[in-house]
Amino acid sequence: MVRTCSLARDDEEVAVDGDGEGRAVVVGGGIAGLLAARVLAERELDVLVLDRDGFGPDRSGPRRGVPQGRHIHALLPRGRQILEQLFAGITRQLVDAGAPSGDLLADTRLHLGGHRFARTHADLTTVSVSRPCLEAAIRGRVRELYNVTFAPACDVLGLVTTPDRRRVRGVRVLRRADGSAEEVLTAGLVVDAMGRGSRTPRWLRQIGCAPPREERVVSDLGYATRHYRLPHEVLGGDWGTLQGPTSARPRGGVLARIEGDRWIVTLFGLLADHPPTDPEGFVDFADSLTFPDVGRALRAGEPLDGPIAFRFPASVRRRYERLRRFPEGLLPIGDAVCSLNPIYGQGMTVAALHALALRDHVGPDGSSDARQWLRSTARIVDVPWDMVVGGDLAIPGVEGPRTAKVRLLGAYVARLHAAAALDPGLAVAFARVMAMVDPPEALLRPSTAARVLLARQRAARPVPGASSPRTGPDATERVQEEIAR
Ligand SMILES: Cc1cc2nc3c(=O)[nH]c(=O)nc-3n(C[C@H](O)[C@H](O)[C@H](O)COP(=O)(O)OP(=O)(O)OC[C@H]3O[C@@H](n4cnc5c(N)ncnc54)[C@H](O)[C@@H]3O)c2cc1C
Repeated sequence: MVRTCSLARDDEEVAVDGDGEGRAVVVGGGIAGLLAARVLAERELDVLVLDRDGFGPDRSGPRRGVPQGRHIHALLPRGRQILEQLFAGITRQLVDAGAPSGDLLADTRLHLGGHRFARTHADLTTVSVSRPCLEAAIRGRVRELYNVTFAPACDVLGLVTTPDRRRVRGVRVLRRADGSAEEVLTAGLVVDAMGRGSRTPRWLRQIGCAPPREERVVSDLGYATRHYRLPHEVLGGDWGTLQGPTSARPRGGVLARIEGDRWIVTLFGLLADHPPTDPEGFVDFADSLTFPDVGRALRAGEPLDGPIAFRFPASVRRRYERLRRFPEGLLPIGDAVCSLNPIYGQGMTVAALHALALRDHVGPDGSSDARQWLRSTARIVDVPWDMVVGGDLAIPGVEGPRTAKVRLLGAYVARLHAAAALDPGLAVAFARVMAMVDPPEALLRPSTAARVLLARQRAARPVPGASSPRTGPDATERVQEEIAR
């Protein structure tokens, strides 16, 4: 028996009733849920976004349901392009709110595999903004859509299905704000955007379906983050620097200017080599990184808060596409499908790619096909998942099958990183793949592979202009030695 449900929209009550036809419920108002709501609204559906958290129109700070939001959230250029496609002018809007924007290789410093990438213009625009600010900007734009309603402080407890359990017909909801009893909300489509902690595997069991197999890559990653007030010129005019882990030292860090004239610094370590959260230990950890720019900057700055930690034990991929049974009308998206090691910065871009796929997938009448949907989300995840597996397994100690392909690609990428320190063309080629603008196969083109393989010989000769002031003589010499080795 389906009952009418009324939900609070901000401070106003919204009555929701009927059989749910023409209605889509999005469970979770994070990045994936907001983008899903945006594309479903094009289908003339009534879209309801439910979230456990409360978020009024002005809410722009960190929130409980997204604890990762306190840490650096780099928006890859491909993700930014998609956001711009869905919300024209959003980059300008963020810049107007104080977020720096510019080119990934011309305005920020990339250090990967122990090498500082050559400085050049890569035509890869990115914008540096905190996760809460980005989410608030997207939420604000979604709020403008006449057929999207936000229902905060709603805990979704389970699925409602047809009697044969083949189709999802809605969700069971508990409104937290007033402690009301459980209610049923009917819908023709339910999008699971609950993130990594998605309850769908449990809910599938409750309706007699097997949960998906989970693949894991255990990296035992730890983050610690702090905000600083720093001089604008602290990175010589750059507004960001990233140091990835190396096989010899599985730690790294990111320092980036964000809105509000603040800098965010996130330090990280894999394999339990976690950054400390006491202020001195935090700065010492920054000093221990291969390149000195983060540590030096912190010593020049004024901390605005204390370090806070986040543990990320493993990347997790749920293999929904391999299930024999899955109910129609339920569409998992974003981190609910795959939660990736965040040091690669791919999660929001994957959510954006999923949203574009959802736009193509859902028919004008709100129809969908579960099997097709699960296959297309899995195809999107294949690329970043392989990048994470390959990158993590390049670190000795990370457990997982090091197949011949993984070992070969690992060795190639290590040489590419070294070569990219001196060859701007290779730096661009790698950055475009990392930014998810080009597919990884682009790095295997014969012309690119030849440059990587020849870099060893070129490194033996003096490289004109290699010791540009921003590359620094120390780094360049080290790179040349390493390539020549
Ligand atoms: C430490 C860390 C750093 C990261 N850094 C980056 C980065 O640099 N770049 C990047 O692109 N990505 C990054 N990510 C990944 C990124 O946070 C996610 O991939 C992205 O936000 C998409 O997530 P989502 O919307 O699927 O889930 P989430 O953002 O986790 O949102 C899930 C939402 O669902 C709600 N919810 C959950 N359960 C229920 C329920 N039962 N009822 C109602 N509501 C519910 C929650 O309140 C929350 O709002 C990082 C992740 C972590 C952990």
